[in-house]
Amino acid sequence: MPLKVDPDIFSHEHEVFRRTVRHFFETEADPHVEQWDEAHAIPRSFWLKAGEAGILGIGVPEEYGGPGGDFLDRVVMTQEMGYSIAGASIGPAFQRDQMCEQLMDFGTEQQKRTWLPKMVKGECLLAFTVTEPDSGSDLASIRTSAVRDGDDYVINGAKTYISGIADADLFMVACKTDPAAGSRGISIFLVERDTPGLGIGRVLKKMGCHASNNGELHFENLRVPAANLFGPLNGGFKVLAKSLNRDRLMWGIIAHGAATRAFDLTVEFVKNRKAFGQTIFDFQNTQFKLADLKADLDVGQAYIDRCLRTYLRTGEVDMGEATVAKLWLPEMEGRVLDQCVQLHGGAGYMHEYPVSRLFTAGRLHRIFAGTAEIMRLQIGRAL
Ligand SMILES: Cc1cc2nc3c(=O)[nH]c(=O)nc-3n(C[C@H](O)[C@H](O)[C@H](O)COP(=O)(O)OP(=O)(O)OC[C@H]3O[C@@H](n4cnc5c(N)ncnc54)[C@H](O)[C@@H]3O)c2cc1C
Repeated sequence: MPLKVDPDIFSHEHEVFRRTVRHFFETEADPHVEQWDEAHAIPRSFWLKAGEAGILGIGVPEEYGGPGGDFLDRVVMTQEMGYSIAGASIGPAFQRDQMCEQLMDFGTEQQKRTWLPKMVKGECLLAFTVTEPDSGSDLASIRTSAVRDGDDYVINGAKTYISGIADADLFMVACKTDPAAGSRGISIFLVERDTPGLGIGRVLKKMGCHASNNGELHFENLRVPAANLFGPLNGGFKVLAKSLNRDRLMWGIIAHGAATRAFDLTVEFVKNRKAFGQTIFDFQNTQFKLADLKADLDVGQAYIDRCLRTYLRTGEVDMGEATVAKLWLPEMEGRVLDQCVQLHGGAGYMHEYPVSRLFTAGRLHRIFAGTAEIMRLQIGRAL
């Protein structure tokens, strides 16, 4: 049973779009994901097809070559990507597409006209680079520097764990432009892949999400024109903060979608698998476990719906709600996935069963885009 959809939130048009998106993932992603996992890469042809299908750059208006659409269209796409079998592998690579929104919000007219038409077609892929070897949760402590020199900025430093380094064409790089000013001294620059001084380092081997490659970057006296400054000088933290709320909610939605898929796969599995002369489903233990998981999923869905209703009322994702969503939904996903693997028995540990892939991918959701501890910290501080 796919995701439950509240008709008071999503319109008929959203549901028509949902069918398009679901069909796209079922036909263009799910059958290929095993191969992409092995190659640690998603072929460019996939992104071009996604562009053609109108599921990249949702919200980017036609004047920049985009498919249009509203926030709920993006939610639909995110829900369906999370629920798809491939979502577990391609999630971090796919979510880079959210950066179209940042470009719309903070890009100069020139930057929008240059990059958005290519991004929405899948011809230009982005990587968002904040994390460094010595700085992750503590964003303000990044050390990559950008120093003004005439009409240019000169960038030096290193980034790590960056999603999509193998195929990114454009990097959004968070740098310190005023090292003494902490979070108020961060600026973001757009750096093209072939810029001299940009070194693409190792692709790192990971626990899961294999198709979304991750790795290291180095900047050595890399020069970018001052026109590549993205957002205000020393205002990079504001740029990050604006996207943070949407990003947190979207990762909560992905976690819920993945947990729902694992649940559905598990119900199907236990109804077919037999032991001691009956199906695994027939054991009361199994039904009790599944009942607990269903309760978790339903409560999670109700919370997502609440966040969406707030958005519909105010036009903004509420920061407090998004932070709770990013804390609770991935932790709920962790509980659900662990039980789903258990109910699969040995099959749950085998990569060829999607539940295994969902399990390793899902572990990321408590770490990435703000760890669970940072969510607790922020919820606690606001009390
Ligand atoms: C698959 C993957 C994809 C990624 N993609 C990208 C990307 O595209 N771009 C990018 O910039 N980054 C990316 N990251 C990096 C990711 O955002 C960071 O790993 C994450 O923010 C955590 O930072 P860290 O790894 O440095 O952990 P740390 O900040 O070192 O944290 C280590 C532990 O300490 C805890 N901790 C830290 N501070 C506190 C505190 N104040 N109170 C209590 N506990 C605390 C954390 O919660 C965590 O449990 C990716 C990471 C992964 C694994």
